[in-house]
Amino acid sequence: MIYDVITLFPEIINSYCSCSITKRGIEKGIISVNTYNPRDFSIDKHKKVDDTPYGGGSGMVLTCQPIFDCYRSIERKENSEFIMLTPQGEKFSQEIADELSKKDQLIFLCGHYEGFDERIRLGLKPREISIGDFVLTGGELPCLILIDCISRNLKNYLGKDNCASNDSFSEGLEGLLEYPHYTKPREFEGMKVPEVLLNGNHKEIENFRRKESLKRTKAKRPDLLN
Ligand code: SAM
Repeated sequence: MIYDVITLFPEIINSYCSCSITKRGIEKGIISVNTYNPRDFSIDKHKKVDDTPYGGGSGMVLTCQPIFDCYRSIERKENSEFIMLTPQGEKFSQEIADELSKKDQLIFLCGHYEGFDERIRLGLKPREISIGDFVLTGGELPCLILIDCISRNLKNYLGKDNCASNDSFSEGLEGLLEYPHYTKPREFEGMKVPEVLLNGNHKEIENFRRKESLKRTKAKRPDLLN
């Protein structure tokens, strides 16, 4: 999977991607993350990428030219998607992550300040994705959330001891919340690990987990049961 990220702040993307599982994913060649700064494409003599809004109002608006040229400099693969991060887009979900993980290339466009000149959306026709009904300062964190979530689906990304197919919302759990986990010690401050997890009976453990999964979904997210 190739992630191409258009951002005014590549250091945010690069710093996150140089840690932990994302770093290992890059080292193993499962993903690659490239950043492109529209400022490098600005034909303005001061490398400006934003301007005041027509009609007045607060904040600065990202201008068309640097973003159009930056986007057009990226080679589009056949099986790719171009995504604009915006609070006005369709809400990101595990389902969308599963769908996007089947692509070979994702190009992300991160906004900043007041957002984009509308002609960027009209002219480049990106798919618009939001990470929720709240507004952040920039699209870099939403972009990293997508990269992180999508990459978990890729083969060998999590390593053999981890598996995304039994996490909450996954198909493996039929979209339910995951059951509770316990690890050593057997007892901590009077709280004991449920006996069933200690007896080695796999059928009973499976039943227990299924019941717990249904129980907590009903309590915390009854909407998922529907
Ligand atoms: N003026 C815009 C509006 O009201 O729709 C918000 C602009 S926001 C301050 C700046 C940038 O942060 C956006 O262009 C977008 O890239 C990113 N952003 C903020 N909240 C987001 C969200 N919930 N999901 C995805 N991207 C978001």
